[in-house]
Amino acid sequence: MTRLVIDKLNFSYGETDAARDVCLSVDRGEFIGLIGPNGSGKSTVLKNLYRALTPDSGTVTLDGENLFSLSHKAAALKLGVVGQENDVPFDFLVEEIVAMGRSPHKKLFDIDNGDDRRIVRHALEHLGMADMAKRNYLHISGGEKQRVLIARVIAQECDFLLLDEPTNHLDIGYQLQIFDFVKRLGVTVLSAIHDLNMAALYCDRIYVLKSGSIVLQGRPEEVLTPKNIFDVYGVRCDTHIHAKTGKPAITFLPSGVE
Ligand code: ADP
Ligand code: MG
Repeated sequence: MTRLVIDKLNFSYGETDAARDVCLSVDRGEFIGLIGPNGSGKSTVLKNLYRALTPDSGTVTLDGENLFSLSHKAAALKLGVVGQENDVPFDFLVEEIVAMGRSPHKKLFDIDNGDDRRIVRHALEHLGMADMAKRNYLHISGGEKQRVLIARVIAQECDFLLLDEPTNHLDIGYQLQIFDFVKRLGVTVLSAIHDLNMAALYCDRIYVLKSGSIVLQGRPEEVLTPKNIFDVYGVRCDTHIHAKTGKPAITFLPSGVE
């Protein structure tokens, strides 16, 4: 069964139509990328899915059920979210932030048990953050925060991840590490991705947003062509299918280079 179906989702911030008749579907186990220029509506669409925003119209089903009729806890058992803003307002230790990922599995006032502590430790180890467990979250770098939030969503143990540019603070080593890691989990993923070469490497299919509308969709090699990239981003590029990855590799051309 198709896991996520978005049908004619509309959302506006006052006068700004940020999502217009967005239709999108994600099958079990797919890794789907959402790309588009700054301000094209990627975060808005994701926020409507993780219910930081409420659509003006449209329907969303998750595993055949109306997403908006699920309790927050029921949704959190299925959907893990890493949003674009990664600030938390209070002082927490890194391991406490990751332990919050366990809360959908617990009843109110349950304390963390041995299983929870093991899951939290493993999640931190996977992200190379084990030695940071006792650090204050407010006093670590943007890239480290991003890895902590990925560890939290892994500790949540859900099989569908919504990610909003999950690697935008990370150097190339950690970008590859995070995407490789998420890919190996084998879970269903819908991720806004800033970097087109990363989208090409990891996505099974890509949706392209422009001014709040989906303008293109398909496999990376269908979507990431020089013409499409020029139409959407206004930049010139060359692309070729890379001999080793079998995926499109994009080289952007600065002005003056013909
Ligand atoms: P993206 O994630 O693709 O960069 P966003 O979804 O953040 O795009 O933004 C889509 C549009 O909605 C942009 O025009 C942006 O300026 C506008 N927008 C985003 N957040 C708000 C907000 N809180 N209030 C008003 N307008 C907003
Ligand atoms: Mg965004």
